[in-house]
Amino acid sequence: MEDIYQEILPFASKGKQADYIPALAKVNPDQFGMCLETVSGEVYPFRQADTRFSIQSITKVFALAMSLSLKGEALWKRVGKEPSGTSFNSLVQLEVEKGIPRNPFINAGAIVIADILMTELDDPEKEFLDFIRALAGNDTIDYNMEVALSEREKGYLNAAIANMLKYHGTIDNDIEDVLMFYFKMCSVEMTCRELASAFIAFTNACPFDFAGYKLSPSQIKRMNAVMQTCGFYDEAGEFSYLVGLPGKSGVGGGIVAIYPMRYAVAVWSPRLNSKGNSVMGMKALELLTTATQESIF
Ligand code: GLN
Repeated sequence: MEDIYQEILPFASKGKQADYIPALAKVNPDQFGMCLETVSGEVYPFRQADTRFSIQSITKVFALAMSLSLKGEALWKRVGKEPSGTSFNSLVQLEVEKGIPRNPFINAGAIVIADILMTELDDPEKEFLDFIRALAGNDTIDYNMEVALSEREKGYLNAAIANMLKYHGTIDNDIEDVLMFYFKMCSVEMTCRELASAFIAFTNACPFDFAGYKLSPSQIKRMNAVMQTCGFYDEAGEFSYLVGLPGKSGVGGGIVAIYPMRYAVAVWSPRLNSKGNSVMGMKALELLTTATQESIF
């Protein structure tokens, strides 16, 4: 990891943090953390592996896991599983495809998943947090209300997406309530160490049974397939090409990648490229799979 860090240092000032969410614009952009956990429990933290940050769209993996556990294959009637090739907050396809989002990892898809969880659960905000806490084995993980409210205040595009979904009948609950739940899910803060630990559950190395939510090895395999093809929006092909692992990014600057049956690795650095993915995070993972000469391919 030290070798990787030295090699990516020339990119340390490239990109900028997600300033369309005012609370994230305030984050010090010059930070870097990484943590790899193996399925046998070895943990390799590096630099700021224990600093919490906004997980943003990484939360969509947790939301998908819960909704897949609740609804099974019927979930795919509400949301697709094809790569979008468009940015995470694009409205274009949603109009053409009459309110059925391409996949659960673009914003439109995650907003539909938020709606499903609101319908299915008695206390969705509590149960969502309980699920993440169980995955990471840490009860202190929480929402950051400042980030959620700051995103709500400026969340014009997501509000447009929610309105279009509602118009097409794809969401059942009140738009304001669904958006607020979605923004809260995105505002969850975790460290690289906690993310790597939580994502071990998606390596398929042990049975998936957390806070009452179960997934079969086949369902986990399929979740990895969706991460591989859709986890990085219009940069999913690039991430696949450079890193060769299923993964998920967020505009907080975090990326988590999974080597099935081997390890989960989380990396964080707030400066993003034009597609909303961490510049140093992408580079670090590219070098990790290059140096180890191992990927799923
Ligand atoms: N909360 C962010 C948004 O809706 C999540 C986007 C992301 O991390 N790519 O814009």
